Amino acid sequence: MTVTAAESTAFALGAADGPGRLLIDGAWTAAASGETFEVRDPGTGEVVAQVAHAAEADVDAAVAAARRAFEEKRWRSLSGAQRGVVLWRVSELITQHLEEFARLESLDVGIPVSQARLMMGEAANAFRYYAGWADKIDGRSVEIGSAAQRFQGYTLKEPVGVAGLIVAWNAPMVNIGMKLPAALAAGCACVLKPSEQAPLTSLALGRLLREAGLPDGVVNIVTGFAPAGAALAGHEDVDKISFTGSVEVGRKILRAAEGNLKKVTLELGGKSPVLVLPDADLAGVFDGVAKGVFWNSGQICTSGTRLLVHRDVYDEVVQGVADAGRALRLGYGTDPDADLGPLISQQHLERVSGYVHSGVEEGATVVSGGRQVGDRGYFYEPTVVADARPDMRMIREEIFGPVIGAMSFEDVDEAIAVANGTSFGLAASVWSRDASRAHRIAREIKAGRVGINVHRAGGVQMPVGGYKQSGWGHENGPEGLDEYLETKSVISILDR
Ligand code: NAD
Repeated sequence: MTVTAAESTAFALGAADGPGRLLIDGAWTAAASGETFEVRDPGTGEVVAQVAHAAEADVDAAVAAARRAFEEKRWRSLSGAQRGVVLWRVSELITQHLEEFARLESLDVGIPVSQARLMMGEAANAFRYYAGWADKIDGRSVEIGSAAQRFQGYTLKEPVGVAGLIVAWNAPMVNIGMKLPAALAAGCACVLKPSEQAPLTSLALGRLLREAGLPDGVVNIVTGFAPAGAALAGHEDVDKISFTGSVEVGRKILRAAEGNLKKVTLELGGKSPVLVLPDADLAGVFDGVAKGVFWNSGQICTSGTRLLVHRDVYDEVVQGVADAGRALRLGYGTDPDADLGPLISQQHLERVSGYVHSGVEEGATVVSGGRQVGDRGYFYEPTVVADARPDMRMIREEIFGPVIGAMSFEDVDEAIAVANGTSFGLAASVWSRDASRAHRIAREIKAGRVGINVHRAGGVQMPVGGYKQSGWGHENGPEGLDEYLETKSVISILDR
């Protein structure tokens, strides 16, 4: 099927009753300023859409709408089962429109359509999963007091209120799927701010939410830049911010949240280690490590970007991962043979290649990749850099591109120390045939998720969250639901 960029964007912008609209209180509304901004296709660099440029006034309107929806109990007064039915319907609608969503996400982010389909499946799955949780939100019954006076207590779980959801551009529907279904299952009213670099699927989702029967004002969508995010994070009438993005902006969110001490969940960056022991199944390592770092052109927070290999197998592993990287085909999103798409922007491409250059300047060696591909779009080769050291900038800082830096070790405990010697703690993987040793190492690693003989793995059932500066709180699983709930204790005196 050939689908043009215009047809893909029509799915989003048609949904929004034309270009340049925000979803506020169930209506598609232009930004108060009337301004719009350009959205580019990272595969060509061309402008493919104009969307509304939300500023503080629009965020105020969206928050007011969410507040009204919450106080009027338009959503939270439904039973959990009723909320679950609506969330399930959203998942069905995403599935029905999976192809349009996948093509739109591919156009906006650059990821091959074949992989965008998997992402849309993940988003649909997240709505289905939390549909199931909506009627299973309950508390505890507790007996307290003394022989002289007894009390009966119980806990209630209540929605935290108005939740601001701010997401990154790298996998918009997946990032949204990790927040919105849980917030809605809990009974919150939401204001969603997608990234300015990839806002299109959020708009398409807005239509589906309405079609599924979500009451007006329960989900409001504002497309805008940092100032819109900052207005949401600092808003006195927002009770909770759930943020996915960089550590740097995560800190700003915390400062902005200080005013009304709103609750905060942060899903931030990573610099995930990959430990390869000498007894690992090397054939599995090459492919698994390459997938773990290069998928979505490395624009994944959990990408395994620090490769720590035992010196007995170092050369073989570095070559094997480099070969696996070379075998990946770069291509435009709709190219059915493409394994990897472009990076998100010219600026990001320069940042990624700048990191590789800095590594070389500090003594590292580029084994494969390390170059831009073509002069249309922002394509960059999967890159393996050897002779890296923990003190190099490209090893300390998140690159968020298809670049892995390899280091060798002799002693496993020394490798664990290097793996943990970073301010990040998002994910890691251990590759070994010795199961008990691998599980022991998994316990030693300071990261929110550890894969054993796999790097890219997970599902909505498993919580994700960052140790150290990779974040606060969790998403997915029942833990993700808890982030949108308050716990109230009710105590009554008992007759003796
Ligand atoms: P970013 O921090 O630049 O932006 C994220 C979002 O925050 C965008 O919507 C942006 O408009 C908004 N924003 C920017 N400044 C703001 C401010 N002052 N106040 C409020 N909002 C503001 O991140 P990015 O470049 O979009 O995404 C890449 C980063 O996201 C990487 O660091 C990556 O690791 C991280 N990420 C983390 C996860 C996770 O689950 N841990 C998932 C995906 C991406």
